[in-house]
Amino acid sequence: MIVCLGRIVQDTDADSIPDDDVSTLSESLDLQGTIESGGITGVAGKDFGGLYSVKPLALIKPSGTEDIARVVKAASQTSHLTVAARGNGHSINGQAMADGGFVIDMRSTEENHFKPLTIDGSHYIDVSGGALWEDVLRRCVSMFRLAPRSWTDYLSLTVGGTLSNAGVSGQAFRFGPQTSNVTELEVVTGKGEITVCSATQNSELFFGALGGLGQLGIITRARVKLQPAPDMVRWLRVVYTEFEEFTRDAEFLVTQEEGESFDYVEGFVFSNSDDPINGWPSVPLDPDHEFNPAYIPQTASSVLYCLEVALHYRNSDRPSTVDTAVSRLLERLGFIQRLKFQLNVSYVEFLLRVKQVEEHAKANGNWDSPHPWLNIFISKSSIVDFDRTVFRKMLKDGVGGPMLIYPLLRSKWDSRTSVVLPEGEIFYIVALLRFVPKGPTVEKLVAQNHEIIKWCNKEGLDFKLYLPHYQSKEDWKRHFGNQWTRFVERKTSFDPMAILAPGQKIFKRTH
Ligand code: FAD
Repeated sequence: MIVCLGRIVQDTDADSIPDDDVSTLSESLDLQGTIESGGITGVAGKDFGGLYSVKPLALIKPSGTEDIARVVKAASQTSHLTVAARGNGHSINGQAMADGGFVIDMRSTEENHFKPLTIDGSHYIDVSGGALWEDVLRRCVSMFRLAPRSWTDYLSLTVGGTLSNAGVSGQAFRFGPQTSNVTELEVVTGKGEITVCSATQNSELFFGALGGLGQLGIITRARVKLQPAPDMVRWLRVVYTEFEEFTRDAEFLVTQEEGESFDYVEGFVFSNSDDPINGWPSVPLDPDHEFNPAYIPQTASSVLYCLEVALHYRNSDRPSTVDTAVSRLLERLGFIQRLKFQLNVSYVEFLLRVKQVEEHAKANGNWDSPHPWLNIFISKSSIVDFDRTVFRKMLKDGVGGPMLIYPLLRSKWDSRTSVVLPEGEIFYIVALLRFVPKGPTVEKLVAQNHEIIKWCNKEGLDFKLYLPHYQSKEDWKRHFGNQWTRFVERKTSFDPMAILAPGQKIFKRTH
């Protein structure tokens, strides 16, 4: 039902359109940027998932919003062409692909906007939809000592790409997802119209595009809220044997007022074994720290839980002040006292922590392996059942990568956006971030993802897929639930011919 593995390179209309048609099109488009066609096998037909590849008709590197609008308009004048914005192609299931259509490389517009603003005493930055969050971070901190408030764990993702989904990390409990931290967008709709929108101006487009899976428009500019950037971060990991204690403490921390808790709260599940990737060695923050399994109580089960937290501070803060603040928070928590790891790192280093993992994995050749990932939002009411069956039994040996789990608060999400969530104020994100060697295992792991979802459905768990992927309209309808009608109405208003983001497989292109 959810993930269908297989190469879906098919004979498409793209193959039947001769290249000179593309050059004719290119001339008639009169772009400032460039258009590449014919035998495109590079990035445009691939993504991070490594599960799918398709052949687009052309890869367009626009110089700006006008170019993007022209491409969408040109597609709308044909009977069949589609347009996919490609951020950094870090989707798993071909969401940024266009089989036989135009792929727009948003990265070519990344430098187009970078303007700080102060409105009513609050700071914002206007950035391009094609900008990478890591560049937004570096530039905002070095130029203004300011930074966005809400992040993803990994920052080589584009602004438009994460805003089209939600964008979550350990700050989302306080500030909401990235979609709750933008106040204005410039969007090219499926009609090729360039529209500026906000909560008060063209609000249906604004809220619809946020979490809208690229279905309503291509985000070319976003106004992102900023806060003063801290200098440093005290980063900690503490270990639990009991899921109930782990969730109780995580929920306690995410429901405290600002100043009364950590600034970042995440967690992960790991195997109670010495497996270098899935087990104890994945826990210490510093290679010099050792995980001593002698401290694990005999009563521990097949998996253990790690709460990961961080506290911001300034260079001018005295170490004793930071120690006191951390100790005061830790003394409320019920982790295994001797399994505590901590490190002081700069704020920028902390936010770029996954970059180091990437560099390592690239050096080992693991980064480009297939990634049959599964991301689920699961309501608090269902999370204990999920742990008991999925983590403790089905995944007790790990997934060859992190198994994240941390709580989020529904009240920090704006229900007017297109994101769909489970019921209840507290829900968890569960992310199974698999790294697997090419070969038959991939299919098995995709099948295991299916099995997990099937089990969740059978048991009646309250959950929604994050970064959803479905093949049929019926499944999409079920996914959106009572928001389906609103989503279809928005689609009809802003992309009536279903030109945009065909890789999501929600709507079929019409004339
Ligand atoms: P792409 O994969 O290029 O595009 C995603 C979708 O958005 C496509 O449908 C595309 O057509 C559309 N799109 C792209 N750009 C635009 C635009 N400007 N306007 C409109 N639509 C657009 N997510 C989290 O929330 N938190 C995390 O911590 C996190 N960590 C990740 C770590 C890694 C290593 C990876 C690979 C992914 C992670 N993700 C995380 C998921 C990530 O947010 C999504 O995959 C996101 O879509 C990737 O952004 P991208 O720029 O690569 O988008």
